[in-house]
Amino acid sequence: MASGIGAARLGPAERAAALERMAARELDVVVVGGGVVGAGVALDAVTRGLDTGLVEARDFASGTSSRSSKLIHGGLRYLEQLNFELVREALQERSLLLQRIAPHLVRPVPFLFPLTHHLWERPYVGAGVALYDMLGFASGLTRGVPGHRHLSRSRALRLAPALKKSAFTGAVQYWDAQVDDARYVMMMLRTAAEYGAHVAPRTQVVGFLREGERVTGVRVRDLESGAEQEIRAQQVVNATGVWTDDIQELVGGRGQIHVRASKGIHLVVPRDRIHSLTGIILRTEKSVLFVIPWGRHWIVGTTDTHWTLDKSHPAASRADIDYLLDHVNAVLSTPLTRDDVEGVYAGLRPLLWGESDETSKLSREHVVAHPVPGLVMIAGGKYTTYRVMARDAVDAVAHGLDQRVPPSCTDRVPLVGAEGYQALWNSRHRLAHSSGLHVARIEHLLQRYGSLIDEVLELIEQDPSLARPLNGADDYLRAEIVYAATHEGARHLNDVLTRRTRISIETFHRGQAVAQEAAELLAGPLGWNDEQVKREVEYFTKRVEAERRSQEQDSDQEADAIRLGAPEIVPVVVPDRA
Ligand SMILES: Cc1cc2nc3c(=O)[nH]c(=O)nc-3n(C[C@H](O)[C@H](O)[C@H](O)COP(=O)(O)OP(=O)(O)OC[C@H]3O[C@@H](n4cnc5c(N)ncnc54)[C@H](O)[C@@H]3O)c2cc1C
Repeated sequence: MASGIGAARLGPAERAAALERMAARELDVVVVGGGVVGAGVALDAVTRGLDTGLVEARDFASGTSSRSSKLIHGGLRYLEQLNFELVREALQERSLLLQRIAPHLVRPVPFLFPLTHHLWERPYVGAGVALYDMLGFASGLTRGVPGHRHLSRSRALRLAPALKKSAFTGAVQYWDAQVDDARYVMMMLRTAAEYGAHVAPRTQVVGFLREGERVTGVRVRDLESGAEQEIRAQQVVNATGVWTDDIQELVGGRGQIHVRASKGIHLVVPRDRIHSLTGIILRTEKSVLFVIPWGRHWIVGTTDTHWTLDKSHPAASRADIDYLLDHVNAVLSTPLTRDDVEGVYAGLRPLLWGESDETSKLSREHVVAHPVPGLVMIAGGKYTTYRVMARDAVDAVAHGLDQRVPPSCTDRVPLVGAEGYQALWNSRHRLAHSSGLHVARIEHLLQRYGSLIDEVLELIEQDPSLARPLNGADDYLRAEIVYAATHEGARHLNDVLTRRTRISIETFHRGQAVAQEAAELLAGPLGWNDEQVKREVEYFTKRVEAERRSQEQDSDQEADAIRLGAPEIVPVVVPDRA
């Protein structure tokens, strides 16, 4: 895997083969849910030598794991709650991800913490970030990000001229890390497949197989063909986030874990709307608000409100959007308006039921339960600590197996694309020269594919028209669209415009202007005829329109009703071409 060449693909043929193999024999473990936790469990299990399968009802990371703030962080605010162990664990994970597991995907990001009180706040915040920096050292690794520094108001204004001078008295700058959350999950699943895991998207668990009390597998429906099949496994791991209670209902009996959903939304605005060289973190009444640099954009978020409506398509309302604009505008000298908003996305935090009724105070820690023999439930936690959650879940699996299972080794398993990344980054000018692409383009590709860049460049070599940017989303090359289908498990236009690329939140047209071109590029590798291309574009357009209209509504109920007006994906009626 040194150059990354030949890393496992997740194309249509591989999906078909995975389904076939999962039907053919009893697995050691089958994982339900292809978010960051399920993907982490699959990688942990397969790298301990277990025969592992994973099924995901929709697209990889289409639940919460593509809709987060995209921070790999300890959570400065948990320090205030004196939850030092949680922060330490998360910061050690940050260090591992940055330096060993995924240096191509996880990057340091600076934040400015504006101070608003003259006397007590600087020593208080200063002590907090100093501790935060200290907890970030992992054994055998450095912190992976620069240390914090104190800034006067004028120095802070030089870094972030967008800030209103009257809104703060000085600042502290500290560093965290960020990741493209959806791509990370997909790369983790490619890594799991590379080690032999069988991975199938658009495969929904619709029932459980039982032998008396024991769970012996799952019944799944292939959402492309409608066909059902059984997957037998010695252990089933449920990693379905906010769907945990629904799965428990399918198993029957009272569950041990209860998860409730808390909605958080984010706005995406163009980079030039906020003049700053650094991210910004602000205190709010309930929590914190981030302004996070994101390529040529900023992500502003987030909110935290109880959500009991549709879990697949949580909707952002006008009230959510106004909340964020009001809070960020309190510190900006040139306020943002709704017209500045390119993209909006909403996600649901899987929170374990706690004592408190306020969702922002519920636990971010995770639990593992073994409610009946053959079934392990894992829920809660946060993106940053997925690896620890996965390890704990597979430890529980190991207890239920008759064989000796080695301990987790994922702290030493780099994701595909990681090995050789640094050398390629250092050689990016040479790569630009040999490929004919601009060095800025090579950098963009390296930060999305790592050393798998060669596979994308190979597509371009075979068809030079793929070197052109998409007409209307020029951050992305046409080759990236094709590659998403051939190698990255994308099955639909929506997968590509929403998760393999982030065009649906990074453009004012939200992907509509490139939908036709992208669908035509996908038609070849996914075996679509003209009818399917038309259906894909139509579905995507309806989704974008429903989202836009839902964001005009005052309440969650109205926003949800409008969002649900867009149809679910139309099944593919054309047979796959292997
Ligand atoms: C607004 C917001 C901001 C956040 N920001 C951060 C952050 O900056 N940093 C951080 O560390 N954490 C953050 N988090 C938390 C983090 O995103 C989540 O904890 C994490 O993504 C949850 O992953 P998961 O795998 O448990 O759930 P999910 O990603 O939701 O995965 C569950 C999967 O199960 C699938 N599924 C459901 N039912 C079935 C079925 N019957 N058959 C097959 N599959 C099924 C779903 O389709 C889904 O893909 C944030 C969360 C939110 C909402």
